[in-house]
This record gives sequence, structure tokens and C-alpha cells, in this order.
Amino acid sequence: MAQRGQKSFLVEKLPFFGGRFTSIKHDGFEIPTGAVHMIPHSRNGPLGVTLLQDLNLSLKIIENEYFTAWYWPQHEPIQHRKFWGILKAFPKMSQRIFIFRKLFPSLRHSERRNESFHEFLEARTEDPQIYNFFNALTGFALSIDISQISTASMFRFFRRLYQRGRPGVPIGGCKAVTTGLVEYIRQKGSILRKSCELVRLEIDGTEIKSAICRDRKTKEEFAIYANDFVLNIGYFQVNELLSRSHIPFRLPTMPIARGGGFAYRSKVPILRTSVVAQFPGNKYIKGAVEPTNISPNLAPPGEHLLLTHQVFHSSDIIHDTRRARDELLETFPQLKEEDELCVHTFHKEWPVNWSTQGNDLSNSSVIPNLFFIGDGFKGNDGWMMTEGVTHGVKQVVEIILSKSN
Ligand SMILES: Cc1cc2nc3c(=O)[nH]c(=O)nc-3n(C[C@H](O)[C@H](O)[C@H](O)COP(=O)(O)OP(=O)(O)OC[C@H]3O[C@@H](n4cnc5c(N)ncnc54)[C@H](O)[C@@H]3O)c2cc1C
Repeated sequence: MAQRGQKSFLVEKLPFFGGRFTSIKHDGFEIPTGAVHMIPHSRNGPLGVTLLQDLNLSLKIIENEYFTAWYWPQHEPIQHRKFWGILKAFPKMSQRIFIFRKLFPSLRHSERRNESFHEFLEARTEDPQIYNFFNALTGFALSIDISQISTASMFRFFRRLYQRGRPGVPIGGCKAVTTGLVEYIRQKGSILRKSCELVRLEIDGTEIKSAICRDRKTKEEFAIYANDFVLNIGYFQVNELLSRSHIPFRLPTMPIARGGGFAYRSKVPILRTSVVAQFPGNKYIKGAVEPTNISPNLAPPGEHLLLTHQVFHSSDIIHDTRRARDELLETFPQLKEEDELCVHTFHKEWPVNWSTQGNDLSNSSVIPNLFFIGDGFKGNDGWMMTEGVTHGVKQVVEIILSKSN
């Protein structure tokens, strides 16, 4: 919007910008508020293209050396650079042939099917290693297991991986990205306010007339009048806001993706290279990254930052987090519990994703000047994480600009 000469007013309730895509400095380590400092398709996805080509931000994004390193129990890690290298990740030749000749071709032809990917596999194989492989992949990338994603959404997700390739790390991590965006938007004359909360919307006939916001420090309330209003929150928060605003419209309930993460410090690189490490033999820890292999300034000199991602299997988050820690320390015996910098849990009002992959809601509402963006509204086109957020944002910007034309 800023680039196309439109003025926006952005309110953020926290005392910093970036939400789940920034970091907080602790003991010299850039501890993420959510994202593990990865841009899923590096410079080649919607986010990288928007930042570097469309907006021309002075930001460096370096592609990981490898796509993935598969850590099977009692095996040396298997690394691959290209998408099809995942075939190497299967310990047995018969599994590789099955994946290449049978599984991927039939996945392609079942794009319209709504069965879960777990059901899709059940009809074709009983091999537990194949289930574990795909559960590690979706557990890390999407924070769900394969019973929570449809075969069609899995196909779209694979298509994006194949087309756009491996992740990358921005130098300075996610904070460098959000800081760059904030500066850009300010320079173009839009207004951004921190510690300022949207409390309700006011409707006039069929359209939203104003947004009532509250400064969380001074408690002052003020109204913003605009042509269009864009909400960057989850459907559950949208419904609360609509209810407070006495607007008789609700979003349907969608399943959220939950999960957690650990941050560990280490004097030596644990993964040794820039790669997404995946653990198909694990119940909880599905993946880990070490962004300091690309951006050393995310840790103090001579130190590394290891970030994991784990899934929950029960509603007892504390229990699951303890089991995940045991699993991590078994996977990497060189890590010591006292080197743990942080443990994250993402659920309820702060989930990993506001809707599980493929269950995204539509980005516009029955109210013609009210739109939704964010990770519950990614546009359902196979893009994961912030790639999907960017894709959804671009769709909304196009709709708004075409209206103002
Ligand atoms: C553990 C974890 C690891 C992840 N790893 C990656 C990764 O490596 N790469 C990647 O691309 N993605 C990753 N993601 C996903 C990514 O972080 C999110 O998809 C993305 O940050 C979501 O952005 P958003 O703008 O939709 O939501 P948010 O970042 O949550 O932004 C919403 C903002 O709205 C503010 N807000 C809420 N209510 C109000 C209100 N009433 N008034 C004003 N402000 C309000 C919130 O404070 C928040 O800042 C990860 C997520 C998690 C949790």
C-alpha cells in the first residue's frame, strides 16, 4: 500500500513491531518471538521477492546450504540440496522407488480429494518409516501431523517446495525483516503506532466507518477513519472484536496449529551447516535449525543458537514440553540442560498458525471494506508460514487498490 502511494495507519498492541516474526535480545542471543529466523523459500518465494525485488529493501537473505538433513535413529544424517534429493532420505531402495513411482504420481492426480494425507498413505503403504518421514516434515513446517492436512493441500505444499526451493536466513534474522518494513512504511508517510490496541469497529450502514483504538500507556481512546480496514489477527480474535462492536457477523471456527520450541546456546555448531534438520524417529522434536551458521550476529561472538520446533500430542503442554526436552537431549547428547536459553509454547491466543495449512479462511468478509490477512488467511495456495502471509497480503492489497481506482 505504501509503495503504491496509499496512506495507512497501523496499530500494534505490543510495545514492539513484528509479532511472531521478530526477536528479543537476551544475553546477546536474538531469541525469536515465533519464527526460527527462516524464510521458507529464501529469495524465491513471495516474501523474498516482495522484500528484495518489489520493495528493494537493503536486506541480505542467504539460502541454506542444504534443503534438509534427515536424522534417522542410529544413522548418519542424510543431507540433500535439491527437492528430489528427499528420495535419498529414505533408508531403503524399495521406499525410494515407491515414493518416486507410486506416491508422488498418485498425489498429483488426487489434488481434488479431501481425504487426509494419512488416509491417502493408508490406502497405499503400511511402512512406518514412510509415515514418520512425512510426519516429521509437516510437524516442522506446518506444526501438524499428516492426519490434519488434506491430500490436496499436501500436493500444493510439495509443489511450492519443488518450485521455489530451500529456505534461507536473513542476515540479522526476522527482526531485520520487520525493522526494514517498518522503516520503509514510515518513509512513505504512513503512520505506525506501538502499544496501541484496536478495541472495536464502528459500522455505518453496510460499511465500517471507523476503528476505535486505545493507547495502552496513556489509556487515551481515539478513532481512525479510513476507506478500508484490514485485520491482521486470528479468527477467534476477529469474532471477539465483532461481538464487542455489535456487528452480527462471525467467522467459522477453524482448527489452529499448536507447537513449541527450545532455544539452546552452544560453543560449537550442533548441526554444523545451514540446513533444516528433521527427526523422523522422534515423537515430539520434529526439526531444528541453527541460523547462526548464516547470520553469526544472532548470537554473541563464538557462540551458536540452536532452535527446535516440536509438536504437542496432548492438552498437557508442560508434560509434552518436558518429554520434548528429554528427546532433544537424547538426540544431541552434547547439549546440556543449563545451556537452554528459552522454551516457547504456542497455543490458545498465540498459536503457531491461526488455521492449519489448507484450512485458511477467505480474506474478505460480508462487509465490503473489511479484510483479513495473516496466517489464518494465507489464500490456500500451498504457501507455508510467512510466504503464505505475504501471498494473502498481496491479494488484499490488489482488491483495495482496484476499488480505489
Ligand atoms: C514457533 C514458530 C516458528 C515459526 N517459524 C517460522 C519460520 O521460521 N519462518 C516463517 O516464515 N514463519 C515461521 N512461523 C510462522 C510465522 O511466525 C507466522 O506465520 C507469522 O509471524 C504470522 O504473522 P501474522 O502477521 O499473521 O501474525 P502475528 O505475527 O501474530 O501478528 C499479529 C499482531 O497483531 C497484534 N495484535 C493482536 N491483537 C491486536 C489488537 N487488538 N490491536 C492491535 N494489535 C493487535 C499482535 O500483538 C501481533 O503483533 C513460525 C511460528 C511459530 C509460532
